[in-house]
Amino acid sequence: MSLTALTSLYDLSFSELSDSLAALGQPPYRALQVWQGLYHSYWETFAQASTLPKALRQALSAQFALRTFTPVKQIASKDGQTLKTLLRLSDGAAVETVLMRYHRRQTLCISTQVGCAMGCSFCATGQMGFRRNLSSGEIVQQVVYYARRLHADGKAVTNVVFMGMGEPFHNYNATIHALDRLEDPAGMALSPRRCTVSTVGLIPGIRRFTQERRKENLAISLHSIDPVQREAIIPIARKHPLEALKRACLDYVHASRRRISFEWALIAGTNDTVAHARALAAWLKDFFVAGACLCHVNLIPLNPTPGFESAAPRRETVQRFAEVLQAAHIPCTVRLRRGIEINAGCGQLATQEA
Ligand code: SAH
Ligand code: SF4
Repeated sequence: MSLTALTSLYDLSFSELSDSLAALGQPPYRALQVWQGLYHSYWETFAQASTLPKALRQALSAQFALRTFTPVKQIASKDGQTLKTLLRLSDGAAVETVLMRYHRRQTLCISTQVGCAMGCSFCATGQMGFRRNLSSGEIVQQVVYYARRLHADGKAVTNVVFMGMGEPFHNYNATIHALDRLEDPAGMALSPRRCTVSTVGLIPGIRRFTQERRKENLAISLHSIDPVQREAIIPIARKHPLEALKRACLDYVHASRRRISFEWALIAGTNDTVAHARALAAWLKDFFVAGACLCHVNLIPLNPTPGFESAAPRRETVQRFAEVLQAAHIPCTVRLRRGIEINAGCGQLATQEA
């Protein structure tokens, strides 16, 4: 068996790791030792596992791999605050992971799939089609990769957003297993409040997320409240109609008592006028509970992609749109897609390399 065909240790939950170590005749304390090696010391080779006896290192390396991908390309934005890495997986496919550094925050934008099956017309990942799901370990390792690098500078990953390539709820189990591992108090201990899962609006996924009382932030890619227009830019919306999506979002808000985020990619001439903003504000009225607005809108000026003709609106248009929402007491943030000059838009680097 080639090394790359071995299961990655990062694909195991703590109990699976404990079972594997017990099967190798190891005492119970070993599981925590290895777990901390993975999530505190960010091992990438068994040679680094110097706290383990040599015989155990050999036994583990015969059964498991540590690193299943290789960084093949890395680019930084002009201000050096955004770094984007193309990671080659063991089967040759590539995914992107982006680090955005702010004052005290280090936010990672990670991928859940190679490509995406949802086919959104404006999205570079959608334009490349679906290749395969990532395993939970492949999702987690994107965070571990950057955590290791930041650790060397005395820093840590503070926030993780599932907004890279792929649709997290089309790979639900791996996404949830990855979150559980990242949030494990004995490991990286990321706060669920600092993790955000973004979905194009897959209703069964939203319902499961609600029922499982997940504590991460939930973001829905809305982009239009006109069903015909929404289905034109988001083909999968035909299977997840707008009114049913709204019901699922409202049920989430009522069950969790938490704010939900809506993403709105502003496309010039399509969904960026004052009339669109007013219609959105009216649509969001149902999200006011006891006078409090339990939603937040993220406005993302379109990041141009080769397969989609339209452009981002002008700055004043974006501003005006935000003002209409603010006047209706709906909190909103304009997300300048940082690192645009390095093609940090979702899926753009991988598409160029493919
Ligand atoms: N599949 C998930 C998460 C990945 S995309 C989802 O669709 O929500 C993350 C966000 O980037 C989504 O809101 C998506 O609509 C947006 N996005 C994708 N391509 C974009 C582009 N070219 N310009 C602006 N936003 C884009
Ligand atoms: Fe997939 Fe999200 Fe891109 Fe749509 S926007 S194609 S769901 S990654």
